[in-house]
Formats: sequence, structure tokens, C-alpha cells
Amino acid sequence: MTVNTRMPKLDTEYPARWSESESGGAVRCTLCPRNCRIQPGCAGYCAVRENRDGRLISLVYGKPAAIQNDPIEKKPLFHFLPGTRTFSIGTFGCNLGCLFCQNSSLSRGSARSAEELSFYPPDVLAEAALMHGCKSIAFTYNEPTVWAEYAVDIAKEAKKRGLAVLLVSNGYISRAAAEELYPLIDAANIDVKAFTEDFYRTMCAGSLKPVMDACVFFKKELKRHLELTQLIIPGKNDAEEDINRFLDWTADALGLDTPLHFTAYFPAWRYHESPPTPPALIRKICERAVRRGFRFVHPGNI
Ligand code: SF4
Repeated sequence: MTVNTRMPKLDTEYPARWSESESGGAVRCTLCPRNCRIQPGCAGYCAVRENRDGRLISLVYGKPAAIQNDPIEKKPLFHFLPGTRTFSIGTFGCNLGCLFCQNSSLSRGSARSAEELSFYPPDVLAEAALMHGCKSIAFTYNEPTVWAEYAVDIAKEAKKRGLAVLLVSNGYISRAAAEELYPLIDAANIDVKAFTEDFYRTMCAGSLKPVMDACVFFKKELKRHLELTQLIIPGKNDAEEDINRFLDWTADALGLDTPLHFTAYFPAWRYHESPPTPPALIRKICERAVRRGFRFVHPGNI
């Protein structure tokens, strides 16, 4: 992964969108279902959207923390522009609080770290993608929803140059923001972390329903290419009835042509209670998905 050090620094007190003023100088961020009410001088849950004097600003606009030229299959996207490279970008911050986060150095990276990063304008990134022979730009590594303003601007520059735009996301986004960001995305992999509200509440400090809505909006309303990933954590989200409900919902709401990725978990961040996922468990779940009629089922991390 390339660390951002090359471009000149620029002070980017970038005004965040999807916000409303509230009493006492507070602002309400409406970018994701968390709807943080943020007091002056404080940041929202994702740590990268801050109230400065009654204005919501993005601390990570123009500040990629990681830039990498990746195979598209690494996202993972196995059924969109296969065999091509994607210019992959991530910043800091996340709007979920998964205890088992597999990428906490970026998702839980300090917003203050972003202040040390150099500024990359959206058009410079799009040009760099072309220069590196990539067919697409991917918003990935940390949760792109929390830097949606930057993602929208990069996507517009990418499209001007004929590049596809990819999203790797937890799908935890408000409808208003999705209506602006998602039409600019050609293909996405959305991480459905489990199929119970209890798991989302206790393990991710979030909720499942907005993620389901985002998947349906992207695939069925916008008719874009969607693949789903589920990280299997032994004893936490692998109950047969939960997997079956996930498969039934996906089949009914999104279709059996939706590629599914079941990936192995490794103890990380603040959750070490479950052992690493045995490869046999991943294979068993993949076989169940195939028996349910899914046409494209992929094991991962084994
Ligand atoms: S994007 Fe961040 S600040 Fe905005 S509502 Fe979500 S967690 Fe809160």
C-alpha cells in the first residue's frame, strides 16, 4: 500500500454536505443512518466529520491515506471488468464500530492523522489512474461513505476520462446520500456483516435494515452490478438459520445472479473470542448457497 506523501499540503477545511444546523451551534450529519448530532469542536462517530463554529467540515476530503494499483478481484469484484487493474483509494474513518474490524489501522485511524496527509485533488487521482493503466477507480480500504463528498468529485472526474467507478462499502448510508453517490458507481461490493439486527447492534454498533435498503437501491433501482461479501465469524454469524435467511432474502430481493463471497475471519481489533474461521466452514456455507441456486459463490481468505 502506498503512503500518501507526495503532493503539496493544502489546508482543506472542506465543507461537508448532508448536514443541518441545530440549536446551540450543533450540526446534524445526515450522511449515514447514525445521524450524529455534533457539538461545536467535536467530531461525529466516524471521527472525520467535525463541527467547526457551527459548520460541518470533512477532515479527509482530498486526503487519501492509502493509494494502490490493485487487481479488481482483490476488492473483491469477480464479475466486473475481470483481469483489469483498479486504482484504489482509501482515507480514514468508519461509521460502523465492528469489534472484529479487519482493517482498523485505517477505519480507526485518527482524524488528526489526516491533517498530516497531503492534498490530492480529484482530477489528479483520475489522471493517475489512467497513467497507471487502470480501467477503474475504487473507493475502498476504509468506509467510503464517510468521505462521500470526495468520492462524488473523484467519480465525476473518473467518468470524464472513461474510467469505471467501484465502491467497496458497508452499505450504511442515508437514502439522500445514496441518491447522489450511487448513480456515479458502476459496480459495488457491499459487506453484509450478518443477517440479524442483534449482530449489527452488539458487534457493529449499527443496524442491518439500512444496509438491505442500500443493496436493493443499488441493484434493483439503479440496476448496477452488485456483489455481496459476508465475513463468517464462528459462533457469531454462522448459525444455519441466519445464513439461510440471508440466502433467501438475497435470492428474493436481489436475485440468484448476485455473486456471493463468504470469507474467513481472523481475530483482530477488539474481538478475539472466536477462533479463525475453519476453511471447512466456509466451504460448507458456499455449498449451501450453491444448493439454494446461487450461480456465483466464492470462498475468500482460505
Ligand atoms: S457519516 Fe459520520 S458524522 Fe455523519 S452521521 Fe455517519 S457517523 Fe455520524
